[in-house]
Amino acid sequence: MNGMSSQKEIINEIEVVRSHRRTIAIEITSDLRVLVRAPMRMKDSDIRRFVAEKSGWIQRHLEWGKARQEETEPPLTEAEIRTLADAAREDLAHRVTKYAAKIGVTVGRVTIRNQKTRWGSCSSKGNLNFNCLLMLCPEEVRNYVVVHELCHRKQLNHSPAFWAEVEKYMPNYADHRSWLKENGNRLIGRMKK
Ligand SMILES: [Zn+2]
Repeated sequence: MNGMSSQKEIINEIEVVRSHRRTIAIEITSDLRVLVRAPMRMKDSDIRRFVAEKSGWIQRHLEWGKARQEETEPPLTEAEIRTLADAAREDLAHRVTKYAAKIGVTVGRVTIRNQKTRWGSCSSKGNLNFNCLLMLCPEEVRNYVVVHELCHRKQLNHSPAFWAEVEKYMPNYADHRSWLKENGNRLIGRMKK
């Protein structure tokens, strides 16, 4: 052990590195961890109080960092989009077959598109379109979009009766809808050149 030694510990999800320093400081690492550098003998309760006082600052920096990370997600290449579309054709066709039987509706053609605006659509003839970016969404979200479009076979609108249908086959559909609201733009952004 020498004078430069430091100890690492975790207090309430915050990484604390103690060393022979006089002051306490907070750092947000490039991979968005919160790191507190504290004097060797500072009490845990004092560290916690300091972190609590800085919670607004921490929150802001984490949000900025996250936004920066999202911005720098590279646009998808043509080859990547083709791969997604191929995967989507098979994956979504299975889901459509499964849920169409459950919901008791017929469907026409299922087409995969590289859309920048919508996740899916359903024509009055029952032809379904799905966005290939759905393959970058969690499986449950993919199921939700399939159920949503299939329920349009019963209600070609977004009336309360339509949402009641969706809820019947997917009681927690609101979670998946908000996932799309929160993450949709980030994914669609990767489609733009
Ligand atoms: Zn709809």
